[in-house]
Amino acid sequence: MNNSMNNILDGKQTSLDLQSEIAQKVETIVSSGGKKPHLAAVLIGDDPASKAYVGHKIKACAKAGFESTIINRNTDISQTELLEIVQDLNDDKSIDGFIVQLPLPDHLDSTEVVQAVSPEKDVDGFHPESVGKMALGLPTYLPATPAGIITLLDRYGIKTTGMHAVIIGRSDIVGNPMSALLSRNAEPGNCTVTQCHSRTVNLREHTLRADLLIVAIGRPNFITADMVKEGAIVIDVGINRIPDPTRKSGSRLTGDVDYENVAPKCSWITPVPGGVGPMTIATLLENTLQASLLKSNASSEK
Ligand code: NAD
Repeated sequence: MNNSMNNILDGKQTSLDLQSEIAQKVETIVSSGGKKPHLAAVLIGDDPASKAYVGHKIKACAKAGFESTIINRNTDISQTELLEIVQDLNDDKSIDGFIVQLPLPDHLDSTEVVQAVSPEKDVDGFHPESVGKMALGLPTYLPATPAGIITLLDRYGIKTTGMHAVIIGRSDIVGNPMSALLSRNAEPGNCTVTQCHSRTVNLREHTLRADLLIVAIGRPNFITADMVKEGAIVIDVGINRIPDPTRKSGSRLTGDVDYENVAPKCSWITPVPGGVGPMTIATLLENTLQASLLKSNASSEK
């Protein structure tokens, strides 16, 4: 048992390190006459979680020396109006990359919206062209959450080659791309991947075989200590708000893993908050910086 709790993969600190490296690069670009990277975020409605996520992203932009723009519209926006906003952002030469914060209200078709984003500005990596390139191992924008997890493992010098990785979840933004990235012939990567989901039978049998367990379900304390192998690396992607009368706000964030009881069994574990979430933000900034550099290279070649 590891009770020392020095087994925490500190996503918050790693993200701050990355953000300050990005800020230094931006400073160099700007001092040599280049343009600040510019990220735009489209936020529809007033879902508190979506508002908070966009707020964190915009704050991180300011700290890294980026320009940022929020386009906030009411829930009753039509699909046509939203597609017009996306088209305007595609056409706007001052914007390097943009995101449409998901989930969208039910009456909007997020698949069509994601497909309307120009792949050159798709810094979320959700467009089918980006997903296809990722699957083929071609250069592209990688989705921020799984790419952030890869970076976190890399920054801690964790070698995953040969590990049995078990991923729980099959969403397009976490589970599926995570599976693709960990199977790649790369380090971190080179894992033998088992991908579980809501229809998996005997989930515990799978999780107990995981050297690397990545959990993206959205259910608090779903992964309990009896489901985790001694010495496993556990990455908790879940973000759940649960009631907590001891807090002023009456609630707090927690992951999908019963952290208190699982952590002592792990060689490494990510906390929530302070694990995967901040890495997602740093990766979005990296993607936007890359978009900005690609754009300035393309215009100087003309
Ligand atoms: P989702 O709802 O799209 O997918 C959840 C997945 O869990 C599904 O694929 C489903 O098959 C699986 N699942 C549900 N019940 C299950 C069960 N009983 N057994 C096994 N699998 C089960 O969610 P998502 O968008 O992938 O997000 C998952 C969680 O991660 C959420 O809590 C979300 O808030 C969080 N999240 C965090 C970040 C971050 O930056 N930290 C980013 C994205 C999502």
